[in-house]
Amino acid sequence: MVVAEKAKRLKAEGRDIISFSIGVPNFLPGGHVYDAVREALSKDSGQYGSNRGADALLDAFLKHIEAIGLTGYKRSNVATGIGAKHIIYNLAEVLLDEGDTIAFPTPYWTSYLDIAEIVDAKVDLLPCPPEQNYKLTPEQLDAALAKKPKVFLFNNPSNPTGMVYTKEEIAALADVVAKYPDTWIITDDIYNRMVFDGLGYHNFVHFRPELRDRVIFLDSLSKTYGMPGWRVGFMVGPESVANAVVTMNSNHITNIPELTTAAAIAALTGPQDVPTQKNEEFQAKRDQVMAAMTSIPGVVCPKPQGAFYVFPDVSAYFGKTHGPTGQTIANDMDLCNALLDAKGVACVPGSAFGEPRALRISYTCPTPQLAPGLQRIVEFFSELQ
Ligand code: PLP
Repeated sequence: MVVAEKAKRLKAEGRDIISFSIGVPNFLPGGHVYDAVREALSKDSGQYGSNRGADALLDAFLKHIEAIGLTGYKRSNVATGIGAKHIIYNLAEVLLDEGDTIAFPTPYWTSYLDIAEIVDAKVDLLPCPPEQNYKLTPEQLDAALAKKPKVFLFNNPSNPTGMVYTKEEIAALADVVAKYPDTWIITDDIYNRMVFDGLGYHNFVHFRPELRDRVIFLDSLSKTYGMPGWRVGFMVGPESVANAVVTMNSNHITNIPELTTAAAIAALTGPQDVPTQKNEEFQAKRDQVMAAMTSIPGVVCPKPQGAFYVFPDVSAYFGKTHGPTGQTIANDMDLCNALLDAKGVACVPGSAFGEPRALRISYTCPTPQLAPGLQRIVEFFSELQ
């Protein structure tokens, strides 16, 4: 947020800024979503809605996840929330008491740490450095679950790394998860439709159906449908957990608003061409970013296969100075600051995600900005001495 604020300020001062900092899709949902909202507005009941979510919304979501092989769930397995973030918070309240442990891989999505702190949970960070492609190994997971954390939080595809676990990798991790019945598993897989190279999306329950008793799958409209501001998220999992989240809703928000519900149903059940097209566009953009980053000597850049992030390890440049401005680069924050000052390109320092050797490039900017932005990054690194 610090980088984004600075980028905004510089832009307001008239600087030519290219932002690779915010994880927000740069497209809107199709017209059918807006038509559905207009229609709903004309019939607005003005009444409270269901704490779990309207039946039609739950049904639309259940149908939606069938396409990724999550079948056989009922309405009672689902809960909705004001975005996936809200559901993660509710799950933390529901599953974690003060002092309980939540384990998750590093790099992690920033809110995980903050949410754990809010509920006074202990955090067990499982380091997944670039040398292991930012992925958790079965051995690491085994060691972590042997300590019996209350919750293991897994994110695939990953923000910030864009990494996607293969079928074989998920199957191997699922075998480990199955050995430890005392731990709840949250799979924050909100980028599950944004997977490239024909890799496909896989979940532990695909390989170990018995894990349905403990696995809570999260989804959201924010990224796939270009609807982050509409604030709609879902969980599907054990009934007891879904019911507890619904109880949280009943005391916090009561329900997802009626107009938002109409928009969400239309997005889930309407034409899927916008998300499909965007996915192809993102894959091409990923290739462009990879070509630029791998051309920089010393930068280590594991190839992401999903979401819209690239997370290069730039630590080979720490300790250098930016020739033209004389700025010293001691760490990721300095590097992001200097890149913004010198070239007007905003990226996010990896320390925000628990990996201070890296920086996050989010390539959701308008396509014409991508090539010039990348060129400026390549130039910037060539000026570090
Ligand atoms: N989980 C991950 C991994 C994310 O990257 C984000 C948003 O950036 C969220 C959850 C939150 O999504 P939502 O907009 O549905 O709250």
